[in-house]
Amino acid sequence: MRKPMIAGNWKMHKTVDEAVSLAKEIRDGVGDIDHVEVVLCPPFTALGAVARAISGSNLSLGAQNMYWEEEGAYTGEISPRFLVDLGCGWVIIGHSERRKYFGELDEYVNRKTKAALKSGLKPIVCVGETLEEREKGVTEKVVETQVRGALTGLSPHDLEKLVIAYEPVWAIGTGRTASPSTANEVHTYIRQLITVLFNESTASEMRILYGGSVTPENISELISMAEIDGALVGGASLRASSFVDIARKAHSQGV
Ligand code: PEP
Repeated sequence: MRKPMIAGNWKMHKTVDEAVSLAKEIRDGVGDIDHVEVVLCPPFTALGAVARAISGSNLSLGAQNMYWEEEGAYTGEISPRFLVDLGCGWVIIGHSERRKYFGELDEYVNRKTKAALKSGLKPIVCVGETLEEREKGVTEKVVETQVRGALTGLSPHDLEKLVIAYEPVWAIGTGRTASPSTANEVHTYIRQLITVLFNESTASEMRILYGGSVTPENISELISMAEIDGALVGGASLRASSFVDIARKAHSQGV
């Protein structure tokens, strides 16, 4: 069965000290949770310190991005090896903010996904349509292109380590959540697509998270949907109380 996952994307927030305090508060708040995998994704600068703060706990560490080369003359970039070295188990790839502000193409998402897997990192691959695309009725087409683009050349074995996050762009940071049934429809579509691209057992085992203005108030309904296996949380992951609340609600749903 698919273990629910709650991942916090801290984006470009928190100094090292602030990140450590937040991580410790979350660590103490979710210490007894075992039905949910909880992942913290602080900025690169705080990864090492957060890794030490959560060492020995039930929390996992993830990065928000990476480059696909192992090392070399790529000024300012961070390689998957460095992330593993700092204790990361996960890495977010293809977040819509990277696609929008940094020109991240499906081809780059694919290269990064392959490089992450090769280094032993588990990718959280983000896909999702803009408001304009949803209004034009091309949500499925957009999501299909992104999923196909990201997963080109991967094997069913690779997919065992990978999570997809469906994040409608119009719901990210806007306070406007996709309704549980709307999100579930797209998750169902993604799972069917994975069946076509890989096989049925791979599709039924793969976790698909929802992301977009998830809060303690809406998590229970979202996660009660058959195809929603957890959440990638932005804004509400920046306060320990709301993130812990989200993780605990997801946990009680699974008990
Ligand atoms: C995100 O950044 O992935 C996200 C879903 O943000 P928010 O929860 O703030 O909408």
